[in-house]
Amino acid sequence: MSWNAERLIAWGMGAAIVAGGAAGYVWGPAMQSVTWMGELFLTALKMLIVPLVAASVISGVAGLGDVRGLGRMGGVSVAYYATTTLVAVAIGLVMANLWQPGAGVPLGQTANAPKPHVAEVGATDLILSFVHPNIIGAAAKMKLLPVIVFCIAFAAALSTLGERGRPVLAFFEGLNEAMMTMVRWIMALAPLGVFALIASRLGAAGGGEAFLAQLAGLGRYALTVLSGLLTHAIVLSLLLWLVARRPVAAYLGHVGAALMTAFSTASSSATLPVTMEGVREAGVPREARRFVLPLGATVNMDGTALYEAVAALFIAQAYGVTLDFGQQLLVLVTATMAAIGAAGIPEAGLVTMVIVLEAVGLPTEGIGLILAIDWFLDRCRTTINVYGDSVGAAVVGRLLGGGAR
Ligand code: ASP
Repeated sequence: MSWNAERLIAWGMGAAIVAGGAAGYVWGPAMQSVTWMGELFLTALKMLIVPLVAASVISGVAGLGDVRGLGRMGGVSVAYYATTTLVAVAIGLVMANLWQPGAGVPLGQTANAPKPHVAEVGATDLILSFVHPNIIGAAAKMKLLPVIVFCIAFAAALSTLGERGRPVLAFFEGLNEAMMTMVRWIMALAPLGVFALIASRLGAAGGGEAFLAQLAGLGRYALTVLSGLLTHAIVLSLLLWLVARRPVAAYLGHVGAALMTAFSTASSSATLPVTMEGVREAGVPREARRFVLPLGATVNMDGTALYEAVAALFIAQAYGVTLDFGQQLLVLVTATMAAIGAAGIPEAGLVTMVIVLEAVGLPTEGIGLILAIDWFLDRCRTTINVYGDSVGAAVVGRLLGGGAR
């Protein structure tokens, strides 16, 4: 896409977020009539995810050459994911200790809140989620982690085949290019889609006044999460500037459309095609972006990790439970795991929070306390999740010494 078209769409999306917010605020539930327009945009993006993930991971990994190249890329990426996620949780813990958002919150709210749908998820489920007995079944259910693991192994096998592997690789290269072209086509719909997604969701929340009332009820908690997310965005920007050596404003110009898509869809996976396009426009080396972004969209969730820590401490404070240093360390570890385990779909973090709550012995019903505004905080944390992936691609690309392509 040309620079001008890219900029025009990004500005259009920015205007659509403001207009969608205003329309949802004023007209409230009536705006649910445009839900289908948002669905159309979201579903069109989702339609690309599986072929795009497969093609980009296979062509990216096979392009690394041999297993040592894969080892280096994997090692640096995992180090980046782990460090930034742990920093995010630490920021969340500091903020929750400073702001004490749960102190004095009436527990009666849990009784009125809709029952949370909490599934039992344990630490071993996390390990098992890397594999799936049927790769087509995993793709059909959009379980991306096993698909990525399969594609990494497939590409590694392909690169050992020499000449015989080349036509297969050329096929996936072509598939990848075609998918990226389709992403650019779908982006023409983005301003309309974003407008509808924001307006209809605010409408579903009952309009501006109802939303503000919900926000006021949980204002201190929301502020704690938001100030933590903002602090982490600054940390990521510093990494981008100091380690990846990229001017932050220019990079944000390229990935801005992805960040706005993340905010509107609350899904890192649905945003992945747009993230890949933005990071490509920013000139990040292709192996880095084709490997780091799909894996990052499923396992690297800084915003989710930070939110899990704040929410766990909020629930503890509301129940009058004091978590000592050791227990907060346990929150640090389990919130990181919960973020890795969360799928890149709306409100997935709410489900995996059970891991954190159970580890420190807090009642899982506590989730009911934060349900009311989770849809809004979900959008904010998803934006940081996608920013973390985008910065990761630039950092990994830089550390592995690739030039811009
Ligand atoms: N919605 C988030 C994402 O897709 C996950 C979550 O925190 O619920 O990145």
